[in-house]
Amino acid sequence: MALIVQKYGGTSVGSVERIQAVAQRVCRTVQAGNSVVVVVSAMGKSTDGLVKLAHEISKNPSRREMDMLLSTGEQVSIAVVSMALQELGQPAISMTGAQVGILTEAEHTRARILNIETERLVRQLDEGKVVVVAGFQGVSSSDELEITTLGRGGSDTSAVALAAALNADFCEIYTDVPGILTTDPRLVPDAQLIDEITCDEMLELASLGAKVLHPRAVEIARNYGVPLVVRSSWTDEPGTWVTSSRPQGRSLVNLELARPVDSIQFDTDQAKVALLRVPDKPGVAARLFGEISRQNVDVDLIIQSIHDGNSNDIAFTVMNPILKKAEAVADAIAPALRSHPSKTDEAEVLVEKDIAKVSIAGAGMIGRPGVAAKMFATLAEAGVNIQMISTSEVKVSCVVDAQECDRAIAALSQAFEIDASPTTSAPLPHNAVCGVAIDTNQSRLAIRHVPDHPGMAAKIFGLLAQYNVSVDMIIQSQRCHIVGGIPTRDIAFTVARAEAEATHQMLQQVAIETGWGEVILDNAIAKVSIVGAGMVGQPGIAAKMFTALAENQINIQMITTSEIKVSCVVSQEQGVKALQVIHAAFDLAGCEKFVVPA
Ligand code: ASP
Ligand code: MG
Repeated sequence: MALIVQKYGGTSVGSVERIQAVAQRVCRTVQAGNSVVVVVSAMGKSTDGLVKLAHEISKNPSRREMDMLLSTGEQVSIAVVSMALQELGQPAISMTGAQVGILTEAEHTRARILNIETERLVRQLDEGKVVVVAGFQGVSSSDELEITTLGRGGSDTSAVALAAALNADFCEIYTDVPGILTTDPRLVPDAQLIDEITCDEMLELASLGAKVLHPRAVEIARNYGVPLVVRSSWTDEPGTWVTSSRPQGRSLVNLELARPVDSIQFDTDQAKVALLRVPDKPGVAARLFGEISRQNVDVDLIIQSIHDGNSNDIAFTVMNPILKKAEAVADAIAPALRSHPSKTDEAEVLVEKDIAKVSIAGAGMIGRPGVAAKMFATLAEAGVNIQMISTSEVKVSCVVDAQECDRAIAALSQAFEIDASPTTSAPLPHNAVCGVAIDTNQSRLAIRHVPDHPGMAAKIFGLLAQYNVSVDMIIQSQRCHIVGGIPTRDIAFTVARAEAEATHQMLQQVAIETGWGEVILDNAIAKVSIVGAGMVGQPGIAAKMFTALAENQINIQMITTSEIKVSCVVSQEQGVKALQVIHAAFDLAGCEKFVVPA
């Protein structure tokens, strides 16, 4: 007999018929010999309705009263689902978050779960009842017993947290799509269902996956090793399993307060190759990395910052033993990228042997603006200069001087209270690329001519954190401009479009005060990414992506990578096309067409 947590989203309980269908599915699961805890969202779009109601009464309703209001939506669902079960002869009892004892921080409208009391739940289950729990809500652990909510979409988080606390066999998320797809089916009609994906891949696919599964739920599943499956509530199809390696008995105390950074990694056996001043036109990255992969050389980090004039710099890291091969390829290609072979100030190859890569990783950094800033500040305080920055959803990597690596990891370990370990790059038995995502809601900001000394990245991203602006990609240019006798670099990054204008103005002001160069805003960008745990140690994956773009005349404006992700910024008007050609290049298309729910 298994203990299963089943979560049903708003559309799955959106009408009387649907509630009855949910009750039937729950009954079948019980009849198969399982104990079931059901977690439900508010019916249909009723939470949106309540938000609208509040705003009709008040321009700025208090967060406490918003919680009182929004938590009622789920209370309706649990009662009627429980009634529907009883109607089928299945003993059932509904419980609010407070009745269960889902204890949270006292942060209204965005509380994190601290602890879940399981006694009452277990007692009801032992009596043969199905327990129907209100998702999205809890009660503050202080004496005040304040009703809290977890943030929009938070029922997934409730369900996975309950599964972790109850040590359930697995957690099923029932929704209105068949599972996680290889990309957005509205843009690529032959997107295909993914059978299995790791939590890490899922988190890196944030802009694709977050609509289906709340990232905080994935984070809990990963931290506690909760097997998770996303399935359609209309069918009996198997859906998508979201997997993780089961960690050793992690404490359930402060369940969601896990540190934002859960590992610090370093690799001292790397070297950097930079190709400076290559033409800013489609095909350059494809040519370089295509040739490198034909030599069977595996590259690790790749970065390309924003263009400067009409040329770009592309830099990458490789393991030291294969540096010679990589360097030879770059040397061979460089002359062809020059306007004249003898013009060696164009397409110049630079090699740096004594570098180290240090990274911080953790799902908790999503949406927490201060985490990257803290890394940069820590390195600055330790006097470590950052040569390269590359970011993904759940990782920030910095390339530093090899001699400074020990100092860097000691400082980071202390700052984030966690031990560092060497990067392990054993390839996983997974698809090289499992999904392709596009994000068209970002804008790019670039600050020209920032002095190249420790503390500059810390200053910029510390400021952004202070203004509560979350940064996604961060890329520091390779090219050095001497301004007033000081070497400077450009730092480019992307932020949510909604925050771009205000951030631009703020930074322009700071740039004037600090003597940085121009601050450039570009709203017309799109970020396309490939994600796959199997790309580790497999040459040619990035090259394939770049080639697909080049063959379609799509210029790459920026590149950044992590071990399991490659992201490119392209112009917004070419974004969807880019997504389509990359999806096709990796043979991700299926024969089935998905009907996109309205
Ligand atoms: N009802 C809440 C919302 O609409 C929570 C959820 O559905 O996950 O955000
Ligand atoms: Mg949802």
